[in-house]
Order: sequence, then structure tokens, then C-alpha cells
Amino acid sequence: MKSDPNCIFCKIVAGDIKSDLVAQDERTVAFHDIAPAAPLHVLVVPRNHYPDAAAVEDPADLQAMFLMARRVVRERGMEDTGYRLVLNTGPHAQQSVFHVHLHVLAGRQMSWPPG
Ligand code: AMP
Repeated sequence: MKSDPNCIFCKIVAGDIKSDLVAQDERTVAFHDIAPAAPLHVLVVPRNHYPDAAAVEDPADLQAMFLMARRVVRERGMEDTGYRLVLNTGPHAQQSVFHVHLHVLAGRQMSWPPG
């Protein structure tokens, strides 16, 4: 498994830092965002460390992230009203944690374009 000892999300994956865990599987971990931007705001991260979405080497990790996002929304019965999946990639997109993470946002009316 790819891991970065200085990465906060690697520490969450390893259980070295506590998170508000939602679900996990072989490839991913899902936990509540510490600063929620919607009634449901979950981050889905691969267990493997990649700095951002563009750096993902194993496409099975991307697939697993999207399947986990769908599972999280479905398990909360929130898929009917829609939801938003976001991959901030790079500083111009305001990525702040450099371990790829899929934002799963649901439970409110979204607007477009995003800021
Ligand atoms: P981004 O700006 O796309 O890189 O998103 C990083 C997200 O990680 C932000 O929404 C933060 O609120 C969230 N975050 C940072 N540290 C933690 C943490 N320890 N547990 C949960 N969420 C976190």
C-alpha cells in the first residue's frame, strides 16, 4: 500500500488519527468532513496515498471511490434528491489536503457554478 507518513488522511486510514467513520472497504475509507458544507458531507479516500486525482495510478481505486460514494448516499436514502461529488484537484481548485478525496455532498439545494 502507498502511504505518506506526513499525510493526515493516511493517518486516518491507518487509524492513527481519529475520524468520524462512515464506512470502509478493501480500497477506501469514508468519514465525515470536519467542516461540513452540507447536511451530509463525507470524504471518500483511497487507502493508497496519491496526492490528487490526477496522480491516481490504479484505476480500481477511482472506481472504488465512486462506488463507495454511491453506497454512502444510498445507505442514507439520499439519492433521490441528488447529490454532488467533487474532486478538488490542485491549488487553483482550492485543494487543501493532498491525499485524493472525493467530497460527497447531499441534503441541500446546490447552486452552479461553484465558487
Ligand atoms: P479540499 O479542500 O478539497 O482539499 O478538502 C479537504 C477537506 O478535508 C476539507 O473539507 C476539510 O474540512 C477536510 N478535513 C481536513 N482535515 C480533516 C480531518 N482531520 N477530518 C475530516 N475532515 C478533514
